[in-house]
Amino acid sequence: MPGFTKNFIPQKNFNYRPERFNVLSSGGGTQSNAIICLIHAGVLPKPDIIVMSDTEREASNVFEYQRQYIAPLCEEMGVEYHIIPKSKYATYDLIGSDEDTPLPGYFTEYEGRDIRGQCAGKQPAFCSIKWKTEVIHRFLNERFGEKYLTERGVDTWLGISIEEAHRRAKFPPGKWQRRYPLIEMMMTKQMAIQCVEDYGLPTPPASLCWMCPNRDDDLWLFMKNNVPEDFARACAHEKEIQKLWPHLWLTKYGVPLAEAPLKPSGGKNTQMDLIQFCDSGQCFV
Ligand code: SF4
Repeated sequence: MPGFTKNFIPQKNFNYRPERFNVLSSGGGTQSNAIICLIHAGVLPKPDIIVMSDTEREASNVFEYQRQYIAPLCEEMGVEYHIIPKSKYATYDLIGSDEDTPLPGYFTEYEGRDIRGQCAGKQPAFCSIKWKTEVIHRFLNERFGEKYLTERGVDTWLGISIEEAHRRAKFPPGKWQRRYPLIEMMMTKQMAIQCVEDYGLPTPPASLCWMCPNRDDDLWLFMKNNVPEDFARACAHEKEIQKLWPHLWLTKYGVPLAEAPLKPSGGKNTQMDLIQFCDSGQCFV
């Protein structure tokens, strides 16, 4: 049975609203797993349900971690945990309502290249809203009834940590509202990692799609060296999208992924420059 060995008392409490329906929207990554450890430890209250949308392009090591370490915690504390296949509820896959534009925010040379020869632009992204937010809303409406959820209102908890507070989306008052337990408790991503490790679980893998154009060089290099089958899928995906959109690339370098001059950042956390392009705030958490 896992448990904290150090003192993980948050600096501030989470303002729980039990009159509303509470759902933890897990991204399957470090911060979401930390929230689940905090619930299991009784530091956070139990939500009504925990859900994770499977984009069906999720990095392959993420679900193994969920199956091995997270699902048993949820079962032990008696909270329903569902991994929802995106294709069951999403209306779009790669191509949205505008048939000329794919949903992910690929790098584009449509706006030219800069003096280093790198792509000058990036496509707007809608994948996270279409593959996660809408999927989870449809699943919850189907599972609990639209009328019930509308009357009660839904607080969706997301694992954005305090240094990423700019990722919070403005949601109008009403049925679907967003809550950020880690921000309310003043927790950073580093604290979330320590929280999971101190709870006796291995360091969780980064959670994002294997073809996500918002990976920084460190994450691409990790995948290339440690999950080569995912890296090969990403290389093939880039070639596939270029059959329709020859100007799109997975990295800023604007060369085939297998040849991209990926460089480790040396701990500079360049990921922060790219996660701003996630449209819903539900990825990388
Ligand atoms: S932003 Fe990246 S990780 Fe999130 S759904 Fe889109 S491709 Fe997947």
